[in-house]
Parts: sequence; C-alpha cells; structure tokens
Amino acid sequence: MNDNQCGGYMIPRDSDHPGEECGVFGVHGHPEASKLIYLGLYALQHRGQEGAGICCGQNGALTVHRGVGLVADVFKPHKLERVVGDIGIGHVRYSTFGSSNLRNVQPLVVDYARGSMAVAHNGNLTNADFLREELEKIGAIFQSTTDSEVIIHLISRSKQESFTECVIDALRQVVGAYSVAVTNGEVLVAARDPLGFRPLWLGRLGKAHIIASETCALDIIDAEWVREIEPGEVVTITRDGVFAQKPFEQVTPKQCVFEYIYVARPDSYIFGQSVDEVRKNLGRELARQAPVEADIVMAVPDSSNPAALGYSHESGLPFDMGFIRNHYVGRTFIEPDQGIRDFGVKIKLNPARSAVEGKRVVLVDDSIVRGTTARKIISMLRRSGVAEVHFRIASPKIINSCYYGIDTPNRNKLIAHNNTVDEIKSFLDVDSLVYLELDALLRATGGDPGHFCTACFTSVYPTPVPEDYEIFTSNQRHVDHSTAPYER
Ligand code: SF4
Repeated sequence: MNDNQCGGYMIPRDSDHPGEECGVFGVHGHPEASKLIYLGLYALQHRGQEGAGICCGQNGALTVHRGVGLVADVFKPHKLERVVGDIGIGHVRYSTFGSSNLRNVQPLVVDYARGSMAVAHNGNLTNADFLREELEKIGAIFQSTTDSEVIIHLISRSKQESFTECVIDALRQVVGAYSVAVTNGEVLVAARDPLGFRPLWLGRLGKAHIIASETCALDIIDAEWVREIEPGEVVTITRDGVFAQKPFEQVTPKQCVFEYIYVARPDSYIFGQSVDEVRKNLGRELARQAPVEADIVMAVPDSSNPAALGYSHESGLPFDMGFIRNHYVGRTFIEPDQGIRDFGVKIKLNPARSAVEGKRVVLVDDSIVRGTTARKIISMLRRSGVAEVHFRIASPKIINSCYYGIDTPNRNKLIAHNNTVDEIKSFLDVDSLVYLELDALLRATGGDPGHFCTACFTSVYPTPVPEDYEIFTSNQRHVDHSTAPYER
C-alpha cells in the first residue's frame, strides 16, 4: 500500500491494481460550459484523483483554473465562476509520467503567435522524450514534465493554416496513446490515436456538443450519446457544426483491454460494449475455466463486483458481499503509533465475519499487480475464520509494464513477472489460484480479439516503446513542490 499525497490529504493507494490514468471532457456552445465540465469531471473522477482543471473561452479569450486534488476540492463555486466562456475543456489527472504537482495539472494553457490554446490529454506517448529532446535542441523550453506539453509545442510550431490542420500536423509526429481535446477558444478539436488505446465519446446537449472519455460523464449532464470517436478520427467542433475526418494511415485498432478489466466505470459503454456486461462475462468465463466446490462467491470490492456476479451466475454459487467497504476514505487520517496489522487495507475494507466464518469462499479480483494488498485481504479473511479461499483473477498474469497511460510499476515489481502461479499461490496463502486465460478475456469483450492491446499480459507492444528511441541528454528535470490549489 502506497500513500499518495494529494492536495493535503493522504489517500491510500491500492498497490494491487494499476493506477487509473486520466479523463477528458469538453463542451462547445453552452453558456454554462464550466459547470457542465465540472460535472463531467466529477463523473470521471475514478480516472484520476491527483489534479483537475477547467479551461473555457469565448472568441479566443481563455481563462483557466487548475489545482492539485479532487474535483470538489479544486473547484469551489467562486473559482468555477471565474472560468468563463461557452467553449471549454477539462481534465482529471492521475500522474503516470510527470509528477503530480501543479505545473503538470491539465489542461495545459499557452499563449503563442496565433493566440491562446489549451490541451487536455489522456494516454502516454512513447516518443515524448525523444521529441522533447529534438525540440529542446532547437530552443524549446518546457514548464511541465507531461507529454501534453510536447503536443502543444508541435501545434504551435506547425505551419498549417487552420487550427485543426495544426493539431493534425502535431499528432502525425507523436507515437502512442492519446485521446485529446484541444481548444483555442473558438474551435474544439478532439482526436483519438490511430490505435484507439483510450476511449472518447461525442455527445450532445441541446445545441451544444460534448466530448467525454466515458458515457458516465455524458449521463451526469443528461447529454445524448451521439457516438464513439473512432480510432484515428479527428473531430472539429465549430459554431457551424461538427466535422469529422480520418487523416492518419488506417491501422488495426489496439484498444486497451484493461479499460474493460479495471479502469472504466461499469456504467459506461466503451469500445462498443457495456463495461458492466464485459466484466460479468469475465466472471462467467472464469467460472467455466476454473470451477470449484465452495459455499459463496465474493468480490474484492468495488471494481471486481461485476466479475464476481458473473462467476456466481455461471457457477450457481450464491454471491455475498463479504467485505464491507468504507466509502469515506480520502480525508486526512492519523496513522496509529503502534502497528496495527494491515492498517492500510483495513481502512478501506473489513470482512463481515458472519458471512465468511467457516465458509469455503471463491474470492474474485480483477487483477493482481504486486500481490501485497491481495495478501493482506486474504490474511484478513483467514483471521475472520474462513474455511478455504479459492482466488480467481478476472485477467491473465500481468507480466510487463504499460507504456500507454495505465500506471503499472516497473516489471520487476509485478508479482507475476518473476513468479509462477504456484509461487504466487504460496505467497498469497490461498487454497487455489487461477488467472483467466487470454483467449477467454478476449472472448469476454464481445469484440474482435485482434482489436485489443494486451501488451501487459503478453509483452507484445503494438508500437515502438520508449527504449526504442535513442536519447542523448540526461533528461534531468527540475523539481517543483507547488502542490496547493490556487488560492484567492
Ligand atoms: Fe492497456 Fe495493458 Fe495495453 Fe497498457 S499494456 S494499453 S494496460 S492492455
């Protein structure tokens, strides 16, 4: 369990799941754009809790407010009121590359020869360091450590005529994952990389057009779901309407399958499917692959709930909540002086003894990263008198790191990178352990199995990775400890 300093609060971070990444939201043509973006970001908070920002504009004049912390903490009403205009973009940040301090919180906003622009970006570029070095060689200076600033530089240097053409020109030069929203206060451009790693939706609210990472963010403002922006598609929203194009070479999509397993909210639809339904399918596949004699099925809440339900439906074993989750974690708490075992996990979860005592339990989790949290959870179950624990994982072994925006540790910290299933079973102290097979995972998506990235399970990366680019400078970056939200 790592602790994550977040705007003055200590939020326990679960080291057994990958970190979420980021969420983007945009509005074009609504007088209350900043409030809609605020609500949209609220619905996307699961994608990033370390920082949030909103930038709005009208007739090319941009105003922005950004801060470190949760959306509700960053945007007090008087601060939201200052962000004016009927066009805008917002971002919730989870630091993947670049640290979590204020200078890295998005949208990044700059003034340049043609006016002002703001960029909000979800995903990671694999050639960002290479491009940064190339830009620095010709005199560019950088204020943040985010990939998004590379995109800003490339847009500002483009010699193309229109704003959209400049954005396309920039995106042609980057490699990796991006679902991006860019505005100059007149036009809103939204784009998904050609492989379509991260989701992005187009919605509508009356005459206004909306951009959102997930449909749950359209639902919160009662926006109509128009359609998913396709891999490699660039959508330009102006006062004259919506114009879509596919300016990049068409390639087979490689959408992040981990969005289905863990990242996206279950009430969202992404990549053409309901996330909830895919997760239930994962549980059904798991029950067919690894049945076991047991009394109840339980989830490691909350992200594993649908998979556990799917396992229960398929196996006929009753589902029980088993764990009680404290939903108020996230505020400052005082660590006890004397060691309480598994303190970090206990603050979030506690087994209901009456539900588990003497029972043979199938415990379903969506994934295992380091294994340390899972071990603590299982130890808590043992102390509550459980008879047997059969651990079922609704994804294959994570054996390698992600370069596309999901925060996984260095591969040597991944328990499945260096250990066999038997070794992991002993470490976790479970009676049986089964990971979902890759074929079953892809079947559960209901989509074309060739259209998904599975690199963290297979080590087959669909693009060059950062190590494939030669970088000559030390890449030394200064450290900025500015973490407090802007004050009056
Ligand atoms: Fe998603 Fe894994 Fe591919 Fe990263 S490596 S994009 S987490 S499937």
